[in-house]
Amino acid sequence: MRVVLIGTAQDGGVPQAGCGCSRCVSALRDPSKALHPACCLVEGSDGSLHLIEASRALPQQLGIAAISLGIGNTLVPDTVTITHAHLGHIDGLGQFGKEVMGSSGTRLIASKSVIDFIRKRGLISPFEVNNVERSVPFSPSEKCGFQFEFIPIPHRDEFSDTHAIKVIGPVSSLLFLPDHDDWVETLDMVGQSSIREWLKSLEIDFALIDGTFWSENELGGRDMSQIPHPPISDTIGRLGRKEDGDPEVIFFHLNHTNPVIDPSSDECRELSSLGWSVGEQGTTFVL
Ligand SMILES: [Zn+2]
Ligand SMILES: [Zn+2]
Repeated sequence: MRVVLIGTAQDGGVPQAGCGCSRCVSALRDPSKALHPACCLVEGSDGSLHLIEASRALPQQLGIAAISLGIGNTLVPDTVTITHAHLGHIDGLGQFGKEVMGSSGTRLIASKSVIDFIRKRGLISPFEVNNVERSVPFSPSEKCGFQFEFIPIPHRDEFSDTHAIKVIGPVSSLLFLPDHDDWVETLDMVGQSSIREWLKSLEIDFALIDGTFWSENELGGRDMSQIPHPPISDTIGRLGRKEDGDPEVIFFHLNHTNPVIDPSSDECRELSSLGWSVGEQGTTFVL
């Protein structure tokens, strides 16, 4: 089975609405430079297709997934799984409705509070709803050959709770952690004393990790306590250099201001010199 990374940006994407920064303007002029909100597509061993997060860039993202998997120009997922109810993670759900895809019976998998929020927003009708119990691995469809496990994560939970998702394949496993507030709270919630110990306890081979910002002063004076994310500089400060037995750590959910988006930046070089990397749309992981 395979997982394709089909979105590496934070909820606002790149270009971000109304932003005249050089990176957003260049992505506006050349759509091949656009980065879509954090999202993955999982292909089961039976060929079934499972979307994690539904962003407004859904048409482009399904295209990237199909091409990366070599199964055509686009695809229709059998299930949709959502980590939490913030904008970029759910604003593509409406496209499953009658105005666009006209789906019926697509399985929507999320926690009860996320499902309640989606229902309140009037987006539930194309879906067959499936509430998830925390921390119990389950198969999203009968013969898909892999499991999801929801891991509760602290994140500004004004609309719903938040989970990371572990994708457990027959050969290896992957962690999908697009959003969390800070490492102290997250490690406290999962009962581990360091990032390395937590990742080790999860027995994963790949970790897609919240890399929204590089540093705390990235937004030029805007109050970042309203949008808490551990900066990459903090995460790599805690991790240090990649050691034997560490999973591959791949940063994604990148804000348009994040210097690591540019592979020739000093920050991106620093990250790779430590053995970690930045996510690229279309990358396929074999689990
Ligand atoms: Zn997000
Ligand atoms: Zn911008």
